[in-house]
Amino acid sequence: MNVFGRNSLLIIVLSFCLTITVGCWYSNQSGSASDTSQMSDVPSFAIPIDCNLGQDCFVMHYVDIDSSPKAVDFNCGRQTYDGHKGTDFGISSLQAMNAGVSVLAAAEGTVLRVRDGVIDRLVSDRITQKQVAGQECGNGLVIDHGDGWETQYCHLKQGSIQVEPNTKVEQGEVLGMVGSSGLASFPHVHLSIRHQGEIVDPFVGEEAVAQANCKTRRNSLWQESLDYVPTGLIRAGFSTQQPKQTELWQGKYQNNQLSINSPALIFWVHAYGVLKGDREHWQLISPDGDMVIDRENNLDTPYRSWVSYVGKRKLSAGTWQGKYELIRHNQPVFSIEREIQLN
Ligand SMILES: [Zn+2]
Repeated sequence: MNVFGRNSLLIIVLSFCLTITVGCWYSNQSGSASDTSQMSDVPSFAIPIDCNLGQDCFVMHYVDIDSSPKAVDFNCGRQTYDGHKGTDFGISSLQAMNAGVSVLAAAEGTVLRVRDGVIDRLVSDRITQKQVAGQECGNGLVIDHGDGWETQYCHLKQGSIQVEPNTKVEQGEVLGMVGSSGLASFPHVHLSIRHQGEIVDPFVGEEAVAQANCKTRRNSLWQESLDYVPTGLIRAGFSTQQPKQTELWQGKYQNNQLSINSPALIFWVHAYGVLKGDREHWQLISPDGDMVIDRENNLDTPYRSWVSYVGKRKLSAGTWQGKYELIRHNQPVFSIEREIQLN
């Protein structure tokens, strides 16, 4: 559903921006066009997950505001997919999911509908995708906030939903746990906000006004100001073999059992929202301080979820250090350092 369906000006602006996506959202990253003034009957919403955004969770996908087969988020970025009707708050792995992260009511209201009993799994191909047909939301619920406002929560952990239909909930009340049920390729909670049945992007609000250069005037519905962070780190570490994306979402390679007899030392990074033109700078430093890898890699394809690594054979004992920086327009987007002891 396209919240801007009747706004041809915005569509034109968005189409233009698709050709210069990077500069487009980047120029507006500070959120300078935001406007928090709202009409009093518009509810404000808290984030629906008990975590610290940017530390142990992240916004993986935004609402697709483009009605065409293209996918464009509210800031003219590409951190969404065609037809996505909500905001996906992700956590790093199934291991984090099993440790338990609560899903919270975004605002007070009355529970309308609940579904539970769908297994948690990672949808990774067309076969597993077909198997969740008709149950894309997985375990989920809908809350009525009055005046035609509703929130919907999807992909909760099987058996975790703690509320029943026709009961009142307070803002911040625990509804269940983050899971990976339904059409989910990573553990997350999907939040859809609707008003009179129409999807509303909470980062923009209903009264969004298109401005030049994609600077949409925003009437955010979030209670606290949330930055637009389309790119970031999910996890990084070491392994003895090249890690696959599904393995990383599963939580593999958390506790490294590596030694100098391991076939190789792989330093890997799992990130979200990389773009064409981004540059990776890798460094691997041996225990005696030698820079054994100092390499740059230019990305020629954008990815919403991205796994990358470097490796070294013939290992010596001691502390190895890995450094990684993702660079865009000659500015660091994020940088990390990791260490591992080999004996
Ligand atoms: Zn979603």
